[in-house]
Amino acid sequence: MYDKSKALYKEAVEVMPGGVNSPARAFKSVGDHPLFIDHAKGSKLYDVDGNEYIDYSLSFGPLILGHANDKVVQAVQEAAAKGTSFGAPTELETKMAELVIERVPSIEMVRMVSSGTEATLAALRLARGYTGREKILKFEGCYHGHSDSLLIKAGSGVATLGLPDSPGVPEGTAKNTITVPYNDQESLKEAFEKFGDDIAAVIMEPVAGNMGVVPPLDGYLQFVRDITEENGTLLIFDEVMTGFRVGYNCAQGYFGITPDLTCLGKVIGGGLPVGAYGGRKDIMENIAPSGDIYQAGTLSGNPLAMSAGLETLKQLSPESYEDFNALADELEKGLKEVFAKHDKPITVNRAGSMIGFFLTEGPVVDFDSANTSDLELFRNMYQALLNEGVYLPPSQFEGMFLSTAHTKEDIETTIRAFDSALSKVSG
Ligand code: PLP
Repeated sequence: MYDKSKALYKEAVEVMPGGVNSPARAFKSVGDHPLFIDHAKGSKLYDVDGNEYIDYSLSFGPLILGHANDKVVQAVQEAAAKGTSFGAPTELETKMAELVIERVPSIEMVRMVSSGTEATLAALRLARGYTGREKILKFEGCYHGHSDSLLIKAGSGVATLGLPDSPGVPEGTAKNTITVPYNDQESLKEAFEKFGDDIAAVIMEPVAGNMGVVPPLDGYLQFVRDITEENGTLLIFDEVMTGFRVGYNCAQGYFGITPDLTCLGKVIGGGLPVGAYGGRKDIMENIAPSGDIYQAGTLSGNPLAMSAGLETLKQLSPESYEDFNALADELEKGLKEVFAKHDKPITVNRAGSMIGFFLTEGPVVDFDSANTSDLELFRNMYQALLNEGVYLPPSQFEGMFLSTAHTKEDIETTIRAFDSALSKVSG
């Protein structure tokens, strides 16, 4: 059933580390080898062995209109025919900036880059340059890309200075990153009491999506906004995942909290390599060439990427998010019923079309509670779901995503697939 994928994987591991170009794709926690994809359309993914899946990964989030959306494909084709990159400005970039400024409450000025990692890296440099401070604070279990300052392991429950999470991250860099548990006001307060005057920025996912989906508890984002403001610290919302996904005006619009800077990626590129960071004009004007904080990119604002992103954002309306909620309601209800039927615990966390389920009684509010999920059951269920034609992101600690191409029938099929998968793995 997976023979061709298996053969391609065998070939790939000889020439690429782990056979992949990004570790999250490697199926390490859910199986022996990843599936190799041939093509995709709408909500469906087709592997090289000809198997069809309802896709809830959507390339880890970007494809909010589903795969190969006709108008996005057309926009990219038209842009490519005119030339793929010029190293000179195009009108498309201004149009994209105007649309982002219109939709994202905190953004008055924006800079396009080519990945989410680049966006967070640049936002931190800007925050450090703007405040003249060196430390930054992040939350345990939040992922902000793979730059040195942000690949930092969390402390044990209270505010600690970071240790590198990966060989190759210098300790000198790690010690400027403070980590505290998500959704824990007391730890954040302690960190500010200890290091307040030195903290350039707090960077956070306004809905965490990289420990599974963990929304902020009531009042938490406001607490973070207040404490950063009181301490002259910039608040950076990393909306690489939540941007244009949690709501029409991103998570900040949805929760009504305005950060100083915002990082974007994924949806804004419509499936092409794009990131962006933006915020208050008085801060953004410090970026070169209007200011002296340096950041650049050969392919930044690339016309293909801008075309795909613009066409994607144009097709989203406030109603799209109501439709997502209705589908997500169905999915949540169905999952809870199926798990109850099989007498297995489940906790479902949601924010718009970001949906996370944990195989535990819950509640799941931070990285520690996310880790109470039954990972062995997840692994077994994952394989059984593939056999039923459902493709989840290949880790317990990734969220599921919906697209405008997903239908009520997709959700019903998925719920039946969970029922059948659970019957098989529960014995
Ligand atoms: N920030 C968040 C919240 C993310 O989820 C990710 C990627 O998953 C990144 C940053 C890094 O983005 P990229 O993989 O485009 O570098």
